[in-house]
Amino acid sequence: MSTVTTANYLNYINGEWIESNSNETIESINPAAPSEIVGVIQSSTTDDLDKAVEAAKHAQKPWRNLSGAQRGEILYKVAGLMEERLEEIAECATKEMGKTLAETKGETKRGIAILKYYAGEGMRKVGDVIPSTDNEALMFTTRVPLGVVGVITPWNFPVAIPIWKVAPALIYGNTVVIKPASESAVTFAKIAQCFADAGLPKGVLNMVTGSGAVVGGGIAKHPDIKGITFTGSNAVGKSIAHEAMKRGVKYQLEMGGKNPVIVAKDADLELAVDAVIKGAFLSTGQKCTATSRVIVEEAVYDRFVEKLVIETKKITIGSGLHASSWMGPCASESQYKNVLQAIQTGVSDGAKLLLGGKPYEDKESGGYFVEPTIFEVADQEIAIAREEIFGPVIALIKVSSLESAVEVANDSAYGLSASIFTQNITRMLKFVQEMEAGLIRINAESAGVELQAPFGGMKESSSHSREQGEAAKEFFTSIKTVFVKG
Ligand code: NAD
Repeated sequence: MSTVTTANYLNYINGEWIESNSNETIESINPAAPSEIVGVIQSSTTDDLDKAVEAAKHAQKPWRNLSGAQRGEILYKVAGLMEERLEEIAECATKEMGKTLAETKGETKRGIAILKYYAGEGMRKVGDVIPSTDNEALMFTTRVPLGVVGVITPWNFPVAIPIWKVAPALIYGNTVVIKPASESAVTFAKIAQCFADAGLPKGVLNMVTGSGAVVGGGIAKHPDIKGITFTGSNAVGKSIAHEAMKRGVKYQLEMGGKNPVIVAKDADLELAVDAVIKGAFLSTGQKCTATSRVIVEEAVYDRFVEKLVIETKKITIGSGLHASSWMGPCASESQYKNVLQAIQTGVSDGAKLLLGGKPYEDKESGGYFVEPTIFEVADQEIAIAREEIFGPVIALIKVSSLESAVEVANDSAYGLSASIFTQNITRMLKFVQEMEAGLIRINAESAGVELQAPFGGMKESSSHSREQGEAAKEFFTSIKTVFVKG
């Protein structure tokens, strides 16, 4: 039974907080204490979405006509307000999706840094001068915004992912309609308030919350939305690509992963164990870049596994609001059930359970906690070694050589992040060359990358242009090539 109702969060459309015309709402629940409602959000209709798109369309020309420096000034102000409200935003994110305060504070700082980075981008070059064969002509490229951009985001990075899409969209002159995941929409409402308080002109950023099929699906189909950037599951990403292709608009998808870490026979095992634990269990394994397959050369397999189990047992579980918790709950009841089901399937498929595998009972809160889980997998065709689980679960695979390690690592539909632990430069370079992944990490856990570097994957993990850094310009603008005859 629900006990606490804190606040009703409305849609943000054309500079105002507006109730949906559906008269229906969705509760955002604290997964560490499911009796607590963190906030109530609007279950919006396509009419609400139409209003938001109309506002964004109307606001786009005046916004585009500001200089990059003027748009950047506003992003700097948003960053300043988020700095002032860091504790509030981080606490809200922890309450909504469960990861620890240390993680959500780090993520909020990252969001602030992204805003500052793109504020600066407003002053950087947008084109090139290209030599013409005609000495009396000038040829150059410039970039123009797409128009209204639709942004659809997941719950697992409720601060950083929306900001790394919204900030570049805005700095390059687009206006935005965003649909955050319902599990973390209260956090984005607090961020939208920072944009409002920073003086962003009305209609430039609009937030519409609600069901993925209605609002997200509506964004994908909307004739006035000229670009769609999405992070989430492969199934939804493919449906968005389908709709976008029908309309001939740009789309950018960041989706799942089944990220491998290779531990070579010459690896620094202490370092590898520490990195595998961080990569697999921070954020309760709910990262697209989370370590989920650990492929170990047999010469060091037993020593590595022994150390990994000893260190994993030290993980403390509990509400992310408590300083003593290193790992929080799964983000929702459905996520919790999916993870436990995946573990059950692993057991029935014959994988050997070395550690965990059960719900972690926190009698006080009844939260959706799962123990950090380690499986040993002999047959890498089974689901636990192939499918994304999005939970604190590792599949350990023993191999006889580095060649077979890379072969096993590449035997996946996904290609997001991949790591190797080795001290040998030849092995490192071979891994860089042969690994099919967009993010290659050497002697570091599978993870994202710094905000100024391109982020994205290969195969079914991503599509089209990369996110972050300068690469974001490719998605959020179109190039015009100009030829001027003197
Ligand atoms: P999801 O695909 O269920 O939801 C993502 C967003 O899409 C949400 O806002 C949701 O409401 C919306 N949505 C749902 N159905 C839709 C539809 N039919 N049309 C349009 N939008 C719809 O994913 P999730 O459960 O929120 O997030 C987990 C997934 O996200 C995992 O697969 C994970 O790997 C992936 N992810 C990827 C990255 C990355 O950068 N590659 C980062 C984080 C998460």
